[in-house]
This record gives sequence, C-alpha cells and structure tokens, in this order.
Amino acid sequence: MPSTGLYRPNDLLPGERFGKPLALIAAPCDVAGGRRGSTMGPEALRVAGLPEALRGLGYSVHDRGSLGGPSHPDRERQGGYRHLEETARWVQAVHDSVYDSLGSGELPILLGGDHALSIGSVAGAARHCAERDKPLSLLWLDAHADFNTADSSPSGNLHGMPVAVLCGDGPRALLDIGHATPVLDPARVVQVGIRSVDAVEKRSVVERGLTVYDMRRIDEIGMRATMEQVLEQVARGGGHLHVSFDVDVLDPEIAPGTGTPVSGGLNYREAQLCMEMIHDSGLLASLDVVEVNPALDRRNQTAELAVELVQSLFGEQILARVL
Ligand code: MG
Ligand code: MG
Repeated sequence: MPSTGLYRPNDLLPGERFGKPLALIAAPCDVAGGRRGSTMGPEALRVAGLPEALRGLGYSVHDRGSLGGPSHPDRERQGGYRHLEETARWVQAVHDSVYDSLGSGELPILLGGDHALSIGSVAGAARHCAERDKPLSLLWLDAHADFNTADSSPSGNLHGMPVAVLCGDGPRALLDIGHATPVLDPARVVQVGIRSVDAVEKRSVVERGLTVYDMRRIDEIGMRATMEQVLEQVARGGGHLHVSFDVDVLDPEIAPGTGTPVSGGLNYREAQLCMEMIHDSGLLASLDVVEVNPALDRRNQTAELAVELVQSLFGEQILARVL
C-alpha cells in the first residue's frame, strides 16, 4: 500500500517488512565517471557499518562480496563515449549478479561505484520481472537526470547516461545487456531531486515523458506531497520498484563525498522522510547506492549519512513498536 495518510509507527518489525533476505553486492568501479574514487565507495559504506545496521534491524543479510571492476584507463572519449568497453563488461557483471540475487528470492542492494552500474542493476531487475510478467518502476534519486547521449553529453562519461540507455537510447554494447530494448518505458521512470540537467538533455527528458520532481517542485509542494504522489504513481503501476539512490541528490553541505556535487540538494530531514515513506509503501524490491567517493569526503561523513538513510529505507523508526 502506498503511504497516503498520516505517519504512524509501523506494526511490523523492520526485519519482517519484506519477508526476504537482503543481499549486499559491492560494485567498486569508477570507470564511467569523470573524477576517480567511487571505486572505494563500497568499502566506505561497509566501514560506516551498513551490514551491521541492516542486521540490527532484524534482516538476514547475504553478503555476496565484490564484483570487482576494470581499472580506470583514463582514455579520451572515442565514438562519443569514454571507456565504453570497460563499462559494458562491468555493467554485464552487475546485471548477472542482480538477476541471480532476485531469482534467489533476495532483495539486492548494490554498493557503487559510479552510476553507470544502474544500467546493469535495472536491466537485471527488468529481466527478472519480464519472466514473471511483473511491471518494473524506477525511482531515480539524483541531482542529475542522467539522460545524456553521446550527442548531448559534454564529457562522454557514461555515468551521465544510464537512464537514457535504459530507455533505449545509447550504444549497442550497453543496449544489448538488457532482455529487450528499451529495458524500461520512460513513463515508468520517476526522478526526484533533480537540479542539474544539460541543455539538450532537458529537451529529451521532457519529450520522452519522464516524471520529474525537480528541486523547485519539491520546494513548492514539500517532500511529503512529493513522495505521496510518486508512490501513488508507482503503486498504480503495481509490480517491482527499483530505487536508484545517487548520494549527490543530497545537499553537498551534508554529503560532500561525491564526484559531481550540486548545491541546493535535499536536506537531512527531506532525505530521511523520502526514505521513510518509500519504506512504509512496502514497494521496494531492489536498490542501488552509488557515487559515494571517499577521496572527496570528510571523515566518511557521506557514507555514514548514506547508511543512516538506508536504515530509514529499511524501517528504522524514531518510535519503536511497543512489544
Ligand atoms: Mg547519477
Ligand atoms: Mg548525480
């Protein structure tokens, strides 16, 4: 059920919420980003206590270890893209792991790594859903629309293109990873927190029909109404919700450890309410946590905040159930 009413503490213990084990899949790779360092993201999330926090909420956690990833060759763009071959190999490994995890009855949590990994995780979820005739919705929490193509991208960095690829616009090497092209109908993509979109990209986002709650809209209606609308839209479509959480959706004042920070992002309470409401909806079925870059962070502050927010996403409440 979507969260439509007033807040009240959930009757379920958090660990009972999804009725399935959680899987941690580390995907340490920065080959599709501009600034190096998100390779260290999974380790920073572990150091910040992510596995223990989830177990502390009563979940069974299956640690699937690390997928590794190609090293960063630092080449110039070729044919419109930087490091396409390496990215495609990495994304395929992410796809295979997520597909396997979902098929094993788990709720996979991807620890990135740059945001290109979502091409693999969403494609893996889409393949899983297609085989079960279940619709898939994507909630993209990000400062950026990530809807660039080779023509619109100023840099050729593939971490700025995953949503476009998932909607069928991208290089063949990445489109071929999905079970179908496009992997996802743009009408099933909802973006929240957007505040930096390249000029040509703006037109594509509007023309393709993505639902976007940019920061102005969030300012105007507030996070509660935003998430009520988002979750009602997702719930109407039914099926599987994949949440892709780019930590740069947060304001850089509270989350400085990321490669492409943009001022004017979500504050602490907005972000926490967003996560709490996703949890209460019961719709979440797979998750990415991406773009944590410890090389740019202050004493692991960004990873620690990401862990707190993931705890809220999995049911941490201010008030506990009275046993
Ligand atoms: Mg992103
Ligand atoms: Mg971003």
